[in-house]
Amino acid sequence: MNLVLCLTEQCNLRCTYCYYKESQAARQTVMDDATLEQSIKIALERTLFFKQFYLNITFFGGEPLLRKETIYKGVGIAKALVAEAIDSGRAEPNFKLQFAVNTNGTLFDDEFFDFCEREKFRIFLSLDGPKHHHDIARRTVNGNGSFSSIEKNIPRFLKYGVLVLSTVTQAHVNTLFESVKWLHEQGFQSITTSVDFDGKWTSEDFDKLALQYQKMALYWKECRQKGDKFFLGTIQDKIKIALINSRYRLYSCHVYNGAIGVATNGNIFPCTRFITSQKDTPYVQGNVFTGFDEEACGKIREFLDSDKKECDGCDIRYRCCAHECACTSYYTTGSIEGVAPEVCTHERMLTEICDRLVAY
Ligand code: SF4
Ligand code: SF4
Ligand code: SF4
Repeated sequence: MNLVLCLTEQCNLRCTYCYYKESQAARQTVMDDATLEQSIKIALERTLFFKQFYLNITFFGGEPLLRKETIYKGVGIAKALVAEAIDSGRAEPNFKLQFAVNTNGTLFDDEFFDFCEREKFRIFLSLDGPKHHHDIARRTVNGNGSFSSIEKNIPRFLKYGVLVLSTVTQAHVNTLFESVKWLHEQGFQSITTSVDFDGKWTSEDFDKLALQYQKMALYWKECRQKGDKFFLGTIQDKIKIALINSRYRLYSCHVYNGAIGVATNGNIFPCTRFITSQKDTPYVQGNVFTGFDEEACGKIREFLDSDKKECDGCDIRYRCCAHECACTSYYTTGSIEGVAPEVCTHERMLTEICDRLVAY
């Protein structure tokens, strides 16, 4: 089971492509200790109920490192609850508890790095590339680029072995390949890029992006042929799903395994992009204090077991984010059933490039 905890909706950055966009400055809520503890309890109970043997807890935001003390507490609570479950025989002795953090990388210090190392955290670092590329969108509250606050931490991130998440907008498209190569040349071995689908991508933008993807695909292939285990998720995931004859939902979608995301007010959601403390929001799956709304959870499961009508007969539907990823559908169309034309265009283009790479 994957549990994503939104510790705070606050952030020290104002990225132009933030999920929260214009409302970022107005979002001030934080998760209190009672909600933290209850979220971990309910997730562990659900994990044991589903007879799963692992619990992955991801600290999320806003920027979760604004709440370092809460992360320390959360780890302590989770370890104590799992130990109790093992001692009482409710969990297997080899039950696995793992932690992760999604971060903008600006607030790390040695103490927090040491803590992550000790607790074997996985770190998902948002870093778009070198300064001129990264600072296009990832800006501080004052409008300055944030690269210089991450730069000092790069040697330790490299030593640690983080997964770099890089976001692409129309403004980044011409320097995408160069930036991915730069990240790899610094020593980052795991990188994945994702597109900020904002409804404004034109066919010219997609042509430019296709050129960048072709270069990335060839570069990745060359690295692999030289024995470099470089992971480039953008290309590799599409290829792997085809080779193992699986589907995206089964290969890497945590929602399929009953993942839960908890907002600062304790409301439960199916995945990251849904999480908000705002009222009257769709896809709430319950609250950590009142329990799961099984009818709402059932609707998500029903959705995951079905195919989208718009995609009927499409050969690549099981490798397509517009078809397979509830988050992508939700943030691009406002509904998990929706299909955004620009995601459809993107997925066809990227899949073709990946398939050609395998063929030649
Ligand atoms: S670091 Fe993340 S949460 Fe903060 S503004 Fe940027 S995208 Fe939004
Ligand atoms: S819904 Fe999308 S983002 Fe969420 S776990 Fe599944 S594939 Fe990943
Ligand atoms: S490429 Fe388009 S038609 Fe095919 S599965 Fe994706 S969204 Fe549906």
